[in-house]
Amino acid sequence: MTSTIDPSSSPSGRQDSVALRRVPPEVTPPLHREMGKSGARSGAEDVAGDVVEAHAPAGPRTPRYLRVVITTRCPMQCPFCHHEGLKPSSEDAGSRVGRDGSPSFEEWCCMLEAAVEAGVRKLKFLGGEPLVYRDLPRLIARVKRVAPGVDVSMITSGAAQPSALAACFEAGLDRANLSIHGWTERTFARNGSKALFELRRRNLKRLLERGRPVKLNYVYTGASCEADLAAFLDDVRRPPIAGRGVVVSILDDLSNPGMGPDTIRSLLRRLCGTLPAAEVDDDPYSLPAERYRWPSGLCVEVKSSRLGDLAPWNACGTCDKRAQCREGTFALRLDPTGRVRFCMDRLDLGFSLIEPARAGRDQGAKAWRRAVAGAVRPGFGQEQVFSA
Ligand code: SF4
Repeated sequence: MTSTIDPSSSPSGRQDSVALRRVPPEVTPPLHREMGKSGARSGAEDVAGDVVEAHAPAGPRTPRYLRVVITTRCPMQCPFCHHEGLKPSSEDAGSRVGRDGSPSFEEWCCMLEAAVEAGVRKLKFLGGEPLVYRDLPRLIARVKRVAPGVDVSMITSGAAQPSALAACFEAGLDRANLSIHGWTERTFARNGSKALFELRRRNLKRLLERGRPVKLNYVYTGASCEADLAAFLDDVRRPPIAGRGVVVSILDDLSNPGMGPDTIRSLLRRLCGTLPAAEVDDDPYSLPAERYRWPSGLCVEVKSSRLGDLAPWNACGTCDKRAQCREGTFALRLDPTGRVRFCMDRLDLGFSLIEPARAGRDQGAKAWRRAVAGAVRPGFGQEQVFSA
């Protein structure tokens, strides 16, 4: 028998990232200034910093967002896929990933119930391709039964039968992000077959018809996909996508340290003209992002904040990866080894949830709170971690 967890302990009372604030156009939020990170900057950067500092996160962000790598399997072959930092070939992937030792359905349930008991309020399934995990609808239904107010979403490439996605919505999925790994068939062919392209097309159609919030994540890999991105943005401005409230997120593939929000903004200027005033999407569970909304209805999100600038963990202080820490999301990851990880670039940071969660939801939640509270940098939202 499962009981219901009251989600009302959300720090903002909101279940999704809906707070939008307008900031002057073409400004980069340099959170490193607020965090006291040193480094030479140009005069222009200093001016931008003065403007944007007031728009940096207003208070502590607590770890209430969980990204669940439900599988590392996927029918696509995208060379840039990072599996949330869990490369299937790496030592850290361990012997359990994708093999018989992967968590059972009940173990996944135990871990997710412990997570929501410990305070998780935003839960995203991803992979690999989450839709290849056959029990996903059952798992979503279980989470929604235990904690109906938790925001449950997924990131899918659409490379699965539309019936699988429909079953997830029927089970209680709130929304979905569709990854665009090539918009035109020609560019898509770098990563997937014609049959998968057709499945992606059908899944997008169904998503639009469903009328739920849809985000299209375009993964920009470099100049060779610029024409493809232009074709994508053109199509987003036309029916059947236009007028459906779709948000486009343009992400770099994290493989090129020289790429970042400025690269994406330059691209947008080339492809769409002058950038309108940015709105800050102030997600209480993750990091703020900028949104640009054109009169045509095109709405593009750019991840402009960096986790390394926020430095939420004790480990960040002496982290030798901080300079390359470019992640635009503040979330914990639960992977198919049953381990919770604190960030994508440090596979050594985290704790095992599967053993305590097997012993029960309360034991799992207790282990979670203890581990997270010990990892959060002093002064960084600790009081909210303990109150969860
Ligand atoms: S890689 Fe992880 S530990 Fe290092 S600075 Fe980034 S968030 Fe902090």
